[in-house]
Amino acid sequence: MAQSRKYIFVVGGVISGVGKGITVSSVGKILQSRGLAVTAIKIDPYVNVDAGTMNPTEHGEVFVLDDGDECDQDMGNYERFLGTTLTRTNYMTTGRVYRSVIEKERNLEYGGRCVQVVPHIPEEIIARIEAAGKKARADVVVVEIGGTVGEYENILFLETARMMKLRTKDDVMFVMVSYVPVPDKIGEMKTKPTQHAVRNLNAAGIQPDVIVARSEVEMDKKRKDKIALHCNVAAEAVISAPDIQSIYDVPVNFEKDRLGDLIMKILKLPKRTQKREFAEWKKFAHDVKNFRNGINIAVVGKYFDTGDFTLTDSYISVIEAIKYSSYYLKRRPRLTWLNSKDFEKDPRKLAELAGYDGIIVPGGFGEKGIEGKLKVINYARTRKIPYLGLCYGMQLAVIEFARNVLKMKGATTAEIDPAAKHLVIDIMPEQKAKLARKDYGGSMRLGSFPAVLRKGTIAHRAYLGENSKLKTKNSKLVYERHRHRYEVNPKHVMDLVKGGLVFSGTSPDGVLMEIAELPQSEHPFFLGTQFHPEFKARPLSPHPLFNEFVRAAIKKNESKPKPKVTRSPLSVALEKRA
Ligand code: GLN
Repeated sequence: MAQSRKYIFVVGGVISGVGKGITVSSVGKILQSRGLAVTAIKIDPYVNVDAGTMNPTEHGEVFVLDDGDECDQDMGNYERFLGTTLTRTNYMTTGRVYRSVIEKERNLEYGGRCVQVVPHIPEEIIARIEAAGKKARADVVVVEIGGTVGEYENILFLETARMMKLRTKDDVMFVMVSYVPVPDKIGEMKTKPTQHAVRNLNAAGIQPDVIVARSEVEMDKKRKDKIALHCNVAAEAVISAPDIQSIYDVPVNFEKDRLGDLIMKILKLPKRTQKREFAEWKKFAHDVKNFRNGINIAVVGKYFDTGDFTLTDSYISVIEAIKYSSYYLKRRPRLTWLNSKDFEKDPRKLAELAGYDGIIVPGGFGEKGIEGKLKVINYARTRKIPYLGLCYGMQLAVIEFARNVLKMKGATTAEIDPAAKHLVIDIMPEQKAKLARKDYGGSMRLGSFPAVLRKGTIAHRAYLGENSKLKTKNSKLVYERHRHRYEVNPKHVMDLVKGGLVFSGTSPDGVLMEIAELPQSEHPFFLGTQFHPEFKARPLSPHPLFNEFVRAAIKKNESKPKPKVTRSPLSVALEKRA
């Protein structure tokens, strides 16, 4: 590569949650559209080695990569926007960085020197950033520094960025995503918090090249000039990023403010022929706002405990996957969140499910809310409502089937009661030893594994049939991402099959049940996957299984009569956010 590799650091100012992840994804997207190879990195300040040991209500969804890394949900945004597959090199945390520095020290890799927080920690981070760029053969590496400027937690990451800039000057630039409030009582956009945030960044030795001004409304010229003057940037480098209806519009909006050209200029990047894909993206971003016909999908989950606000984050990939398939089939998805515990307390609530066109039970862990989910699954199966079970949602569908079709009383999973009589879901043999020695971190069956599909099934048709957009049409294997410790108990597979359940996807050696479904003569769509298809759904290539599920939901929606669905204000608010 004649051209040296370029690095864009994205930092946050004023408050968290203003969309740094989407900024990184969108900056990547607009550079990609100029023919550049882009990769993205997330650096999280927390001490956990990965996101796998955190409750989703703490930190949102745990995203899983092909190589099995359990990481931050922003990695999902990067993959979805950039259409790439990232690896564990693209993700780091304070814990991960310290762990490798300490391991190196124990292995005498520092040659007897005193190992210090500075420079050894930043140097480790630089090595990781460079390795990720190299691995992806990227022209540009976009690095998101978690947290907000001015807090203790990410100071070493800023130090890293400063050191990189010092070394390579022209190859490193900084984007600060800052919040610019319009206080209700004042009614005017206030730039002072952003000015303070930039000063904080300056104190870390960094001058931003671009300021992305996040606000409720568009930023006017006067405020842009004010920020430019006080924050020491060119007025053209203040990019207005108002709240918009859809996140897919962010790259399109950035282009309106000429951010792409500006970055090319700052980093002295060569012009390449524009890729067609951005036109497709623009069309997608435009179309999604205009679908009139809706479908009603219920997601029955349990990660509601810290209040409504973390809700979307816990299942973000599931939401995105539903949206992509709905848009692909020209429908507007109307998602409703149902708390599984409510169905335990009040069995009459089940009747409300009749109004939904499809029901999803996503992944989960532990005992809480399980009986409620089983009731919901039973309702979906017996009332023929399209059902998609993801991981735990598949295991629970198997349990429901065993209990109510095979009459295996009290059938359950070893996760809830290892001493139960009918363990239709059991712990995987290699997982048993891990749990016995309390080896919990990063030790599940993680990442991409292949499955073979059985002909004549919904799964086979979805992945390999006529409607499939899948490129691997001739391959017999499909690869999906996993995150689980339990499996369909091989001892009960025959009983379940005899009872009428179809295992339409298995591991190539036939030992692990990867997809379970009911024949379409019995049910329009009742299917569960041991893996998480949602992690591989992309805006421009929606997931085949979600497509089939949505097709079945559309069919139900178009059949009469249509009972009315009552949607909570939260669900309506979420739809607006989408
Ligand atoms: N708790 C189940 C298991 O460990 C399912 C996991 C999941 O839904 N991701 O197998």
